[in-house]
Amino acid sequence: MNFIDTHCHLYAEEFKDDYSAELKAAKRENVDAIILPAIDSQSHGKLFALADEESSCYPLIGLHPTSVDDSYREELTIVEQYLKSKKVYGIGEVGIDLYWSTDYKRQQLEAFDYQIQLALKHNLPLVIHSREAFPEIFDVLMGYKGQPIFGVFHAFTGNIDTYNTIKTLGEFYVGIGGIVTFKNSGLANVVKEIPLERIVLETDSPYLAPTPYRGKRNVPSFVPLIAAKLAQIKSVTVSDVAGATTTNAKSIFKI
Ligand SMILES: [Zn+2]
Repeated sequence: MNFIDTHCHLYAEEFKDDYSAELKAAKRENVDAIILPAIDSQSHGKLFALADEESSCYPLIGLHPTSVDDSYREELTIVEQYLKSKKVYGIGEVGIDLYWSTDYKRQQLEAFDYQIQLALKHNLPLVIHSREAFPEIFDVLMGYKGQPIFGVFHAFTGNIDTYNTIKTLGEFYVGIGGIVTFKNSGLANVVKEIPLERIVLETDSPYLAPTPYRGKRNVPSFVPLIAAKLAQIKSVTVSDVAGATTTNAKSIFKI
């Protein structure tokens, strides 16, 4: 039984003293591969340093929506430079976040649109961050209908209608993490309706630790806690969840 953490910021400041120990702890829990989503040029260097050092870490490149400001064009140029010089496994994380601020909404829409084009050009999956922005994200994706778009809606928190819309916009999977273990999140009822063939596991470390560690630092070795919750929701074994989600992750990121 093996797991893949499809969304983990193990290069973040929070892990600077013990990322190596956390990777070992993850391996002990059979979390064999970790996808590293990018944020912005402040941390791209750390991300690729970790990916160069650890063969179980797979880098993505992209500009995170909350990092979009007046300098987003320069940031996108940097993203393209990494695409030329490094092996990357996807474009992410990208998308729209109107929860923290709407000040740069127009720029966020432009940056998202541009990064969809990069994914298409390089035949890479998109890892999409959506916060209070499903309508806006759907609008942008609608412009690419019929094109070979694929990837993950990370930290999925929509309802079943949202999921059904996502299905029409590309070959998309949903990333399920700690939120599904939270009491009253309502996500369990939605996840029940989504086939395992469309789900990948993620931690979003260092954020969103699953129960019983809610509020603490999240780590990739917590992936089995999320798998156990999914198994319970879907009345299948943890091994079934591990098998399906690992197959999905391998096919999306080609690892
Ligand atoms: Zn993230």
